[in-house]
Amino acid sequence: MARANAAYYAGQDPFRDFTTAPEITQAFGEVLGAWAGIVWQTMGKPDPVLLVELGPGRGTLMRDALRAVQKVLPPFRAAVQVHLVEASPRLREQQRTAVPEAAAAWHDSLDSVPRSAPAVILANEFLDALPIRQFARRGAGWTERWVEKGRFVERPAEAPAADARVEGAPDGSVLEVGQAALAVAAQLGARVAREGGAALLLDYGPSRSAPGESLQALRGGRPADPLLDPGTADLTAHVDFAAAARAGVAAGAAVHGPAPQGSFLVRLGLMQRVFALARQARDPAGTAAQVEAARRLVEPTGMGSLFKVLALCHPSLPSPPGFEDA
Ligand code: SAH
Repeated sequence: MARANAAYYAGQDPFRDFTTAPEITQAFGEVLGAWAGIVWQTMGKPDPVLLVELGPGRGTLMRDALRAVQKVLPPFRAAVQVHLVEASPRLREQQRTAVPEAAAAWHDSLDSVPRSAPAVILANEFLDALPIRQFARRGAGWTERWVEKGRFVERPAEAPAADARVEGAPDGSVLEVGQAALAVAAQLGARVAREGGAALLLDYGPSRSAPGESLQALRGGRPADPLLDPGTADLTAHVDFAAAARAGVAAGAAVHGPAPQGSFLVRLGLMQRVFALARQARDPAGTAAQVEAARRLVEPTGMGSLFKVLALCHPSLPSPPGFEDA
């Protein structure tokens, strides 16, 4: 999955196969920019502060966030140093156009993002692209799935360690372990606990760890066979938010959420912003597009409830915006 997705993001235009919240309406990046600015204020307005994004895609979220904070919170904009974690050279080029910030810096991973200042870190639909392992219960034991010559094969394996789902898992059940995503959650937790700041993770997956398979491939916007022509389809898996929260706490961070994306965005004022954009639209089609965008992001039948939002914060910070009673 790691190699297939690296090839996919480096070689294809992923936005032919799927769309994401920042591509649906500019209001998404704008309210997340405001979120970052409010958190920065509660941090005591450090200058400089790093604004980091993991997997920025076309750079749309960061572009919209920076434009919004320039307008509503110029001192935050002035303090911000932008760092983008992006593996794909092709997407880096698009991000350079969207975020023409002379000082923006690109990184292959979080490891090289400087630790010299506190950070506000955003990641939308990043963790779901990271590789997972799948374990299957077979009788009294467990197997792990591997890919060999284009097919899944199962080999005997130890049960996933320290995983409450193992106990009582019925024969045939499948457990997914998102080791790479959990490593990122641990790294973010350690970072905000040590250097200060907060990380906001938005993705799709359940609030509670559960058995089940979620690996999926999308090609041309349609479900596809994940093993067919590796590197030509987008591979994703649900994010185990409960496990990500535990990893963040173990690393020293305070955790808020996971909250459903819909209620989180409504609390941040997404609807007001979308309706303002709808009123400013040049034609009825533009107005309708904004209203439709809001519906898609917020309603439970769209991205409002399958998508979750999790914040990992320095323990001294108050509950960040959008999590007030989540
Ligand atoms: N956040 C964007 C894009 C989501 S697609 C949006 O909401 O539109 C996933 C993004 O993560 C892409 O930019 C992809 O190139 C990047 N990515 C995937 N795996 C990565 C990895 N292992 N390291 C760094 N970036 C990665």
